[in-house]
Amino acid sequence: MSLFKAIFKYVWPQIKKYRLAFYSIFILFGTRIFLEGILRPVYFKKIIDTISFSSFDRITVSSDLFKLVFITIGLNFLVTTIARICKFIIYAFEVNVAKELRNFSFRKISKQSQLFFSNNFSGSLVTKSRRFVGSFETMFDILIYDFYSSIIFFIGVFIVILPQSKIIALFFSIFILVYMSIIFFFLKKKIKYDTIEAQSDSRIGGRLADVFSNIFAVKIFSNRDKEEESFKEITQDANIKSKKAWFFSGKIEVIQGFFSAIMLSLILYITAKLWLQNKISTGTVVLIQTYIVIMMDKLWQLSTAFMKFMKSAADMKEMIDLFEVKPDILDPVKPEKIKIKEGHIVFKDVSFKYKNGQSVFEKFNIDIKPGERIGLVGHSGAGKSTFTNLVLRFSDVSEGNISIDGQDIRSVTQDDLRSVISYVPQESILFHRTIRENIAYGKPNATDEEIIQVAKKAYAHEFISKLPNGYDTYVGERGIKLSGGERQRIAIARAMIKDAPVLILDEATSSLDSISEQYIQDAFNELMKGKTTIVIAHRLSTIQKMDRIIVLEDGKIVEEGTHKELIAKNGSYAELWNHQVGGFIE
Ligand code: ADP
Repeated sequence: MSLFKAIFKYVWPQIKKYRLAFYSIFILFGTRIFLEGILRPVYFKKIIDTISFSSFDRITVSSDLFKLVFITIGLNFLVTTIARICKFIIYAFEVNVAKELRNFSFRKISKQSQLFFSNNFSGSLVTKSRRFVGSFETMFDILIYDFYSSIIFFIGVFIVILPQSKIIALFFSIFILVYMSIIFFFLKKKIKYDTIEAQSDSRIGGRLADVFSNIFAVKIFSNRDKEEESFKEITQDANIKSKKAWFFSGKIEVIQGFFSAIMLSLILYITAKLWLQNKISTGTVVLIQTYIVIMMDKLWQLSTAFMKFMKSAADMKEMIDLFEVKPDILDPVKPEKIKIKEGHIVFKDVSFKYKNGQSVFEKFNIDIKPGERIGLVGHSGAGKSTFTNLVLRFSDVSEGNISIDGQDIRSVTQDDLRSVISYVPQESILFHRTIRENIAYGKPNATDEEIIQVAKKAYAHEFISKLPNGYDTYVGERGIKLSGGERQRIAIARAMIKDAPVLILDEATSSLDSISEQYIQDAFNELMKGKTTIVIAHRLSTIQKMDRIIVLEDGKIVEEGTHKELIAKNGSYAELWNHQVGGFIE
């Protein structure tokens, strides 16, 4: 039950937005089922009784007969009209709620932290979110077309049959109750199989996404065959799980089939007997048989519907589990207004540990003045990325605090904080959108002039102009149609147009061609103007002109000063300087 509670918690708020349609569906569909499934057979019964009683004098009943025929014809038209209107409302309702659910999932998932995304394959996130919406539609269809319509039908049948024959009404009720109990008994077990099946299906999606996004590595290591083999293992595993789930469904169907056959025979036998004893009319025999046929159909569909309903619920659950994950980094309940303008960054007694217990900083202090340009150097693992992640609040300090312009970075929202920081990562990943859109991402309302101006300053305008569609060129997924250096310059232009007071640059480790490198260096210099800048340097040549160089080792500042001062000191920095291999720190 908790499963449905969880689904309800997330789906109901979206359904509520269309409550008029929601309630209309129940009223109209209920009316339709009553008219079509219950009342129409009653008129057939009346027609048959009229016909069978009049076998000696047909003329006397002609007006009664025609009245009944016309009512039935009228009923048919009414049912068709209501059915069409209802279908239209259901369709519109489902499409609208599906839209809301898509937007909701997007909002909920995109709020998750970086860590969440590194722990969840984007491929399986896509699959889960698609399935979430698809399953809602399936569940709602089943709810209306199977569950609700059956309830209305069963109650209606009972009310109509009871005055005709108590014993048949009793048999009908027993039949329905036992049948439903069988379904419920087995389906409880079935959901376990379905959950396992859904998980293995997600694994397939996740693996596909992982391999396809790393296809370059797969090919370069000649591991295509190995990947294929390992993919086959995953699909084989999924295959076994699907089979188990379906075998179980098969078993339930066999039991249902036999039980129905027995009950049907019994009811037919009793009906015949009652007719012979003159306790029910010919019309009633036809009515009972008509109801039985519809009921059998409904009950049979009901069991498949239950299975599908449970399967869809299990599918929805996968996404809901993700909704329930609390983001690692939360915004304050009452965020302050952001007051950061200058970019004066202060770490006060900052300690930080990763979740696995790995301690990176202990009582770490640093004061970066507004407009100061800092070069952060140190061996791999020294804590450089962790330092910038803390400033950007991709991680939260365990103790102490970080403030910018006197404002604790935890007192404002993450969006506000990041709006005052420009960040250029090592490997710039671009959206599969046009270059113009990629640059304007830093300032959505940027004019074309502004875009061109920053592109020029980032030394990107020239190469962009040479592209066949210029600024309207699509860059390919993750920007693969451009070279590393070109992507980097677009990312610099994007950071430039954002014009934030704080700038964090993670210098590219991958070797760029020397022309690109010079351009990027010039673009960086342009970008840094007037901003508090932190550069994670992977080669020392690029940070010689920094105001202060900080040498980190195991999360501690071991040296700081200008390039000249540190070389003169002949300590760690000088050692790094002398040991750079091919320009890079190892
Ligand atoms: P740098 O950027 O200087 O190479 P990092 O900041 O990435 O160094 O890493 C500092 C230390 O924290 C290293 O010992 C690293 O293994 C550890 N570390 C980095 N990221 C994580 C993480 N997500 N979980 C646990 N430990 C981590």
